[in-house]
Amino acid sequence: MAEDDVNPFESLQEQIDDAAAFIDVEDGELERLKHPERVLETNLTVEMDDGSLEVFKAFRSQFNGDRGPYKGGIRYHPGVDRDEVKALSGWMVYKCAAVGIPYGGGKGGIRVNPINLSADELERLTRSFAEELRPIIGEDRDIPAPDVNTGQREMNWIKDTYETLENTTEPGVITGKAIESGGSAGRVEATGRSVMLTAREMFAYLGRDIADATVAVQGYGNAGSVAAYLLDDLGADIVAVSDSSGAIYNPDGLNERAAKQFKRETGSVVDFEGATEELTNDELLTLDVDVLIPAALENAIDERLAREVQADVIVEAANGPLTPNADEVLVEKDVYVVPDILANAGGVTVSYFEWVQNRQRFHWTEERVNDELERVTTEAFDDLVDVYESHEVPNLRTAMYVVALRRVLQTFREGGVWP
Ligand code: NAD
Repeated sequence: MAEDDVNPFESLQEQIDDAAAFIDVEDGELERLKHPERVLETNLTVEMDDGSLEVFKAFRSQFNGDRGPYKGGIRYHPGVDRDEVKALSGWMVYKCAAVGIPYGGGKGGIRVNPINLSADELERLTRSFAEELRPIIGEDRDIPAPDVNTGQREMNWIKDTYETLENTTEPGVITGKAIESGGSAGRVEATGRSVMLTAREMFAYLGRDIADATVAVQGYGNAGSVAAYLLDDLGADIVAVSDSSGAIYNPDGLNERAAKQFKRETGSVVDFEGATEELTNDELLTLDVDVLIPAALENAIDERLAREVQADVIVEAANGPLTPNADEVLVEKDVYVVPDILANAGGVTVSYFEWVQNRQRFHWTEERVNDELERVTTEAFDDLVDVYESHEVPNLRTAMYVVALRRVLQTFREGGVWP
């Protein structure tokens, strides 16, 4: 992992400042765009299976609600802290604006390593958090979703707790639910799908064919593994994948669906028989491939690693995987970085479709979901290219932030300040 001890909230603020230089914005407006409106910090007391009590720190940051309800995932990870949650909630604001969906941004997390808890303990922890969140969430207020180490199971618990306490049915209070609990077709694949779509669009923009590309994926979880098999379906070769235990490599291409199954059975991709070599995560990140997909956590690539990166294109499946210094190095090296707020926006876009379906009390087909996602993603990519080509911006990230900041600012200005 990277050596830089970079604060992701400071990274977010730097990214906003970089883009603000290209737009007409007052100092006060800019301050507003750089800080969360509020952050809930709470300590959850949970009874463990052996009867003892444990206390877990949890957060929910509501960054900006100008364009609609706060929206963003809930993460279970030992590294969760206040600034991380603030950063992730800010990235959600600009992600939703980048793809033009009517949401603000929020994010939450519990400082816990879920591997150490039984399913019953996790349920009590999740329901306890849902109880704390209840007054500040709702389908028109703040809509949580899955993130690292949470999925349909946790979302169903949160929905059930909220609906029980509110004595209502309100499936749109949360997204990423199982289909039978009001989830959407295509949601599980959505983040990986937008990674695939933006990689394809990027290659088309560069006049290259994604079918000829070699790809390395750091972090073989939901986002990374889906991106891998959808890119493979386009003809690309997935030559390396990794998880927190290590990386595997085969220059002739890995069978990524079999690797996924192997990880499901054993807990890791390491020792997968289709690999010819084992690598460290740092070695994977600096492989000579066409496309590198960081799909694990923040700050995976710092300035030092960026100097060694050999990929032509980086598609950010994770949120904030590059430090600002790494970004600068990659500009110098002419490496194109498809920014997280576009590349992984498929997750929140299909969450939005799920919420729309919940409010319509109607189910869309998977084909309709995927078609709408493709339309939203490719339109956002075109908006990005328009700014990239018409402004002297240093990179695609700044171009995407210019699009997003302008949209948030416009809504804020139309609404005005109250009181
Ligand atoms: P996940 O828990 O399914 O997968 C994360 C993977 O990363 C796991 O395989 C884990 O082993 C691996 N990992 C963790 N630390 C690592 C390290 N140091 N080196 C290599 N691998 C490591 O999570 P996910 O939902 O796929 O999310 C991954 C990233 O994508 C996060 O940054 C998340 O915020 C972002 N994201 C996810 C979604 C979504 O819908 N799932 C949407 C938008 C963004």
